Amino acid sequence: MRAKIVAGNWKMNTVPSDGVGLVVDILEKLNPSQVGDTRVIISPPFTHLIDVIDHVWEEPHVSVAAQNCHFEDSGAFTGEISAAMIADLNIDAVIIGHSERRQYFNEDDALLAKKVDAAVRHSLLPLFCVGESLDQRKSGNHEQVVKDQLTNGLFHLSPDSFKSAIIAYEPVWAIGTGETATPEQAQEMHAAIRAHVADKYGAEIAENVSILYGGSVKPSNAREIFSQPDVDGGLVGGASLETKGFVEIVHAMA
Ligand code: PGA
Repeated sequence: MRAKIVAGNWKMNTVPSDGVGLVVDILEKLNPSQVGDTRVIISPPFTHLIDVIDHVWEEPHVSVAAQNCHFEDSGAFTGEISAAMIADLNIDAVIIGHSERRQYFNEDDALLAKKVDAAVRHSLLPLFCVGESLDQRKSGNHEQVVKDQLTNGLFHLSPDSFKSAIIAYEPVWAIGTGETATPEQAQEMHAAIRAHVADKYGAEIAENVSILYGGSVKPSNAREIFSQPDVDGGLVGGASLETKGFVEIVHAMA
């Protein structure tokens, strides 16, 4: 049985004191009987990681992810944070290849592959994001784009290392736009991703990899998207910054 996961990506939002308040509030409002076996991942900015991990480390279903890492372990890279530093804080996971990193920081597949390696080297689960632009979808190229992102950024991993990875499908045209992929569009792409994983790593590994949907997930659409057979949860941006909505989304997964 693959893991059901709802991850909140706070992006560059909240100052540390607000972030701690938000995580405390979320933990208070999550109802264990409604969370079930869903795994909740909170991904705050780097400046909040220590405080946030302090609050969640005793929660069996909640863990913390960083939003990015450098591919080297240490060195003269002013302003950067390494996977080694993140792992030393007892953080479990790191988001790699978010479309905002690809778009605004020119992160390409070759660089992302090195970041994936850094994460694996330090036993961080790579939460690897893929997704097509609106133009790519309009031209009917979307499946190929996503398959190429996986092949070039993630599929160099050995089967054993790949087993730790989580995939997030986030169509760029749906991120922060209020526009969501229809449940059918999400299912179609998730099934294509799983088939692509099966081609590379075999049916068993493909069956076990969690594939999350991201892009304007909100309480009103979460249940329908999550009910698709190949959708194993969500990567939630805007709606993860508000306790009530995020908790409802987590409860929608169970
Ligand atoms: P959104 O962001 O939910 O605000 O669309 C999702 C993401 O970028 O992970």
